[in-house]
Amino acid sequence: MSVLRSILLSASESRWLRERAVRYPFVRRAVSRFMPGEAADDALAASRALGVGTVLTRLGENLGSASEADGVANHYLNLLDRIHAERLDVEISVKLSQLGLDFSREECEAHLYGLAERARSRNNWVWVDMESTAYTDVTLEVYRRLRARFPNTGVCVQSYLYRTAADVESLIALGSGIRLVKGAYREPPDKAFPKKEDVDASYFRLAERLLSADASAKGVRGIFGTHDSNLIRRIEELGRTRGLAPKDVEFQMLYGIGRSEQLRLAAAGYRFRVLISYGEAWFPWYMRRLAERPANVLFVMRSLVGG
Ligand SMILES: Cc1cc2nc3c(=O)[nH]c(=O)nc-3n(C[C@H](O)[C@H](O)[C@H](O)COP(=O)(O)OP(=O)(O)OC[C@H]3O[C@@H](n4cnc5c(N)ncnc54)[C@H](O)[C@@H]3O)c2cc1C
Repeated sequence: MSVLRSILLSASESRWLRERAVRYPFVRRAVSRFMPGEAADDALAASRALGVGTVLTRLGENLGSASEADGVANHYLNLLDRIHAERLDVEISVKLSQLGLDFSREECEAHLYGLAERARSRNNWVWVDMESTAYTDVTLEVYRRLRARFPNTGVCVQSYLYRTAADVESLIALGSGIRLVKGAYREPPDKAFPKKEDVDASYFRLAERLLSADASAKGVRGIFGTHDSNLIRRIEELGRTRGLAPKDVEFQMLYGIGRSEQLRLAAAGYRFRVLISYGEAWFPWYMRRLAERPANVLFVMRSLVGG
């Protein structure tokens, strides 16, 4: 792991920094590249403007009290109603820690079922984000129980973890929604591939499984969440060799990253969505975005110099 990446990921975990950095206008300006605004209205407006399907997620991790989870769940219930009323092609993605997992697994599951139920009645989907390895087992357990009742749900898996190949097999067997990403947290070498080339190789092997005939026969909805143009091209090629049409392959990218690639994939007929984050608690998330591409730190510096 590069030194800068490691520093940025440490910063993402620092409460001290979080409380201070968000006060600086130049930091807020730099964040706007990845986030259309802090309110759900901003994210919905961006969804309309983009003209492609989106997935919305409200930022915020590790709540201070159990009651905060009620507010988060209500927020998403209202959001699902608004998406339906405004006939938008927008799904939602949630973090279990935001739904109160650290306080009560039962209440967290109850909130999640409430969201999945509302989404089903609105003909929509709910995605479960994957957090750090402290949460992998519990997230997958909660998801498996959710999937048994709600086929309109999916979970994220991270190619940097050694365990993910086995997890993906068990998720395929359930006909799950599976969003494949590389992984954004700081993980030790006994849990995650330390080298980027191994993470990429793992990603492609998992992509081969998600585009396999048996995954399709099980009803898996596989999603490739990446901006890595080399991997994207290899996955497109894989789809072609397996006789799949673009509409059978789904990509997702983050708002503000790889815009020309986003337009190209949508124009080529791939199923495609942009994941838009919004909310006030953007600091740890923003540090992870900087860590993914240390050159982004230059953008922050430039906006500092620019006033
Ligand atoms: C739809 C979606 C959902 C996600 N959900 C989760 C989740 O639930 N859990 C989780 O751990 N992670 C999640 N991630 C983040 C993911 O784990 C990676 O950290 C992130 O996608 C960067 O990896 P990459 O695949 O783009 O490849 P990389 O090899 O990191 O990047 C490839 C290229 O993409 C561009 N790029 C990548 N990131 C940036 C950036 N921040 N700024 C500018 N350019 C960039 C650069 O050109 C870079 O060379 C999600 C990502 C996406 C797209």
